[in-house]
Amino acid sequence: MNSYTPEDFDFTFLEEGFYACDVVEQRINESSMSDDKDAFYVADLGEVLKKHLRWVRALPRVTPFYAVKCNDSRAVVMTLAALGTGFDCASKNEIQLVQSLGVDPSRIIYANPCKQVSHIKYASAHGVQMMTFDSEVELMKVARYHKNSKLVLRIATDDSKAVCRLSVKFGATLKSSRLLLERARELGLDIIGVSFHVGSSCTDPETYSQAISDARCVFDMGFTAVINPALDKYFPPDSEVQVIAEPGRYYVTSAYTLAVNIIAKKVVMKEQLACDYENDGANNRTLMYYVNEGVYGSFLAVFLDHTYVLASPHKKLKPGERTYPCSIWGQTCDGLDRIVEQCILPDLQVGEWLLFHNMGAYTITMSSNFNGFQKPDIHYVMSRSVWQRIQQISTQGLHFPVEEACPSDLPSCCRRESSLELPAKPCPARVHSVP
Ligand SMILES: *Cc1c(COP(=O)(O)O)cnc(C)c1O
Repeated sequence: MNSYTPEDFDFTFLEEGFYACDVVEQRINESSMSDDKDAFYVADLGEVLKKHLRWVRALPRVTPFYAVKCNDSRAVVMTLAALGTGFDCASKNEIQLVQSLGVDPSRIIYANPCKQVSHIKYASAHGVQMMTFDSEVELMKVARYHKNSKLVLRIATDDSKAVCRLSVKFGATLKSSRLLLERARELGLDIIGVSFHVGSSCTDPETYSQAISDARCVFDMGFTAVINPALDKYFPPDSEVQVIAEPGRYYVTSAYTLAVNIIAKKVVMKEQLACDYENDGANNRTLMYYVNEGVYGSFLAVFLDHTYVLASPHKKLKPGERTYPCSIWGQTCDGLDRIVEQCILPDLQVGEWLLFHNMGAYTITMSSNFNGFQKPDIHYVMSRSVWQRIQQISTQGLHFPVEEACPSDLPSCCRRESSLELPAKPCPARVHSVP
């Protein structure tokens, strides 16, 4: 399990002093001579290592079980497998993928509270014991098809006073939890733990929005300050309770940059005012850019979550270059296929590129081939120093002081920090939705 070679990962080494953004640059340059201007990703696996080291330093007591649904590419899963994380799988195929990369079943939690019987049988046949549940029917299924399971009860904290109920789909109430535990005992099932969803612990709308924005901030910077003392108080180290978490986007968001090409463009003029003599029309101009990726591809989660992505032009703006209100649209024939409703960009031409950073989470796993469009290629890169660290951690574990492996000295994509890190302003509230 610990003898990975670069070929297994299918990445290319970044030469000394080169960053992922240089690879983006290089590929765009190469494409300038040809008609092939397909959208593509560059993914820096060093970002994943960086996030892992930061996690281990910040939450030494919490074992990360990476949520595979967030990004199931082999290179990412393999990097995390080498680093020794666990995996949160939601289906047979995800379990298969993780096990095909040599991960021991003890490092997998089948964290889908409602499972198809054939998938439960698959887990059982392949030694995956840890699984979540939140209902009696699930217990009966598991009792019948997976006697050796180790069950984790997913609870929903009381959100009865909240306007938007978060736990509509998953999570047992505290009241039914007691019954479920009794039922499990009757069925001779082994319950080893409890899991919950971080967003559901609120009881009124005010706390709700606060909790969401807090959770984001807490994750970014104050996690240690809040979580660790709480863990120590309620589950002191000598309680021998193992604490795990299922981070998804935390690990992969910043690793991916998507480059899309402008394939069409429209200039829309607003009604010109009659008295507007001096205006050359530029003030009334709005631009619509059509690019070769969209909400049926990498941007589905952006669309469903009503979140925003930031497009930056690949070409450098000239000093004083004029910018315009713009919208950005995907390449399919569907009118819903709009990536960005409003943004400010210069006047770009067909054939020029737009870049989207922080595109590693819920992008490639959720994209479809609707309208016959292909998914973008992904180019994985890693610096040699990152590769050496991964090898070292894979074979020796993280026994050396984590401080020494401080992430700051790892190359990052032109030192551009991901949007997930240390917000300078109060965090915007963002509904955490698990697609
Ligand atoms: C998807 C999922 C996660 C991961 O969510 P992120 O926002 O990507 O971190 C965690 N826990 C469970 C149960 C999930 O289904």
